[in-house]
Amino acid sequence: MRVIAIDGPAGSGKSTVAKAVATRLGLAYLDTGAMYRAIAFEAMRRGIDPADAGPVATLAREVDLAVGEKVLVDGVDATIEIRSPEVTRAVSTVAANPAVRQELVARQREWVKAHDGAVVEGRDIGTVVFPSADLKVYLTADDQERASRRSKEMLDLQYDQVAADIARRDHIDSTRPASPLSVADDAIRIDTTGRNIDIVVEEVLALAAQEETADETSAQGTDHDQTRRGEAR
Ligand code: C5P
Repeated sequence: MRVIAIDGPAGSGKSTVAKAVATRLGLAYLDTGAMYRAIAFEAMRRGIDPADAGPVATLAREVDLAVGEKVLVDGVDATIEIRSPEVTRAVSTVAANPAVRQELVARQREWVKAHDGAVVEGRDIGTVVFPSADLKVYLTADDQERASRRSKEMLDLQYDQVAADIARRDHIDSTRPASPLSVADDAIRIDTTGRNIDIVVEEVLALAAQEETADETSAQGTDHDQTRRGEAR
């Protein structure tokens, strides 16, 4: 089962890169942020305060989530709604809840297993969800560029508002005690500031090809060693 982890903060280019890499490698693509957003969305829809840890954890355990081209929450299509500014503002509080993380991490591992591998994007994929992923990439970009990429997507919000929301989310995501956003020791960092995202995709594909070759070589080395051990016996 092949797993490629793509982590990084909002606006670093994760989704674009992860989707393109998955398509090119014929792997499934999992957006774990969409799962945290779905819980935040459903909590608000049911009138649960996103900061109310117990009820939000119960919701995370009980709700039916289907994540793919569309995001279905208890069978209802919430693909568009989970990207709203209200959900975006509440999601980091929900994601800081350790019981919610525990539940969603288990679901993410199951999803990837059921799809026989995937390109998985998030914040803690290389550090917590798949610490032995075949390839770990950590994307970054400077704050201004991240905010300007996001404000182009959210046409109804001003740049300053988007920049403030991202800064707040970055702060909560990287200072929470439960698996904060951090770079795995063995992750390859790529700064996407001022770079064409297609070139970043090619760079990640080249890393994936290198990793696959290294993997095959080490597997052959193991077979060879086993043969030699067999001969010696
Ligand atoms: O990737 P996206 O910006 O949609 O993620 C929304 C939020 O979900 C993040 O700001 C973070 O709080 C949370 N998240 C997380 N762990 C992940 C993916 C997302 O905590 N693996």
